[in-house]
Amino acid sequence: IFLFGTLSAAFLAYLWSGPAFNEESLKGVKVLVTGASTGIGEQVAYHYARLGAQIVITARRENVLKEVVKKCQDLGAQKALYISADMGISADVDRVVEFAEQQLEGLDYIVLNHIGPSPYQMWDSDVDHMRWLMQVNFHSYVQMAVKALPALEKSKGSIVVVSSLLGKMCSPFALPYIATKFALNGFFGSLQHELAMKQSNVSISICILGLIDTDSAMEKIKGHIDITPYPAHEAAWQIIKAGVLRQSEIFYPWYTYYGVLFRDWFPHARDQVIRSCYNYQP
Ligand code: NDP
Repeated sequence: IFLFGTLSAAFLAYLWSGPAFNEESLKGVKVLVTGASTGIGEQVAYHYARLGAQIVITARRENVLKEVVKKCQDLGAQKALYISADMGISADVDRVVEFAEQQLEGLDYIVLNHIGPSPYQMWDSDVDHMRWLMQVNFHSYVQMAVKALPALEKSKGSIVVVSSLLGKMCSPFALPYIATKFALNGFFGSLQHELAMKQSNVSISICILGLIDTDSAMEKIKGHIDITPYPAHEAAWQIIKAGVLRQSEIFYPWYTYYGVLFRDWFPHARDQVIRSCYNYQP
C-alpha cells in the first residue's frame, strides 16, 4: 500500500508539474522580456539571468529598468540590456524588437508580459481608456509578435504570451483589462493553429495565470476580493518552462485549469459564485 501510494503521488506530482527541462539549454539564449521593471516580468528576467541567458528587458521607467539589469548581471546573465519604451506608442513597439534583435544578434524567445495600469472598479464607461488599454495590452503584443516572427522562424524560437484566467472567464471590476486578455487568448490561440498548419518553426505558449502576489495586483484587489495569491517567482518559472517545452497553453496555479475545465458546466452556479466573491454594495 505504501509503495502504491508513493508511486501514485509521484505520478500525480509529475502530471501536475509537467515534464522537467534541462536548465543548461537556456545558457546563452536570446530573450526579450516586456513589462520587466516590476512584478512577474522582473522575476522572469531574474530566472533567465540566473540560467545564463542574454536578455533585453523593457518597460517605461528607465531608472527601475537600470536596477533590474544590474541585478540580472549579478545573477549571471551573459548579457543584460534595457530599453525604455511605451507600448501605447506604435513606433516604440517596433523600436524595442529592432533593438533586441540587433543587440542580441537574433532572438530565441519573446515573453510578452506588460500591462498598462487600469482601474479595478465597476466600469465607468470610459471608452478612450478601453481603446488605449487595447493598444498597450493587445495591439502591441500582436505588433511585437509580427515584427519578431522572421527572427524566431530562423532560430526555431518561441513567443510566450502572459495571459489570465480573466481572459477565459467573464468577471466584474476589470472590464477593459478582461477584454484585452480575451483578445490575446483569441488571437494567439488562433495564430497557433495557423503556424502549425504552415509548419512554422515558431511555437506560441499562452500562460493562463490566477492571482499572483505582485505589488500592483495586491494593491488593486485590496478590499474588493479575498483570494489567496500565488508567488510571482513561481509564476515566472512556469512561464519560462512553457516556452522551453513549447507548451501551447499552461495554467498556474492549479485552480485555473479546473476553472476553465468546468466553466461551462453549470453557468448559473458559476455566475453566482463569481459575483459572491466580490465585496460590493450598490
Ligand atoms: P505589474 O503591474 O507588476 O507590471 C506591469 C509591467 O508593465 C511593469 O513592468 C510596467 O513598467 C510595464 N508597463 C506598464 N505600462 C506600460 C506601457 N505603457 N508600456 C510599456 N510597459 C508598461 O504586472 P504583473 O506583474 O502583476 O502582471 C504581469 C502579467 O501577468 C500581465 O500580463 C498580467 O495580465 C498577468 N497576470 C497577472 C496576474 C496577477 O495577479 N498579478 C494575474 C493574471 C495575469 P513601467 O511602469 O515601468 O512601464
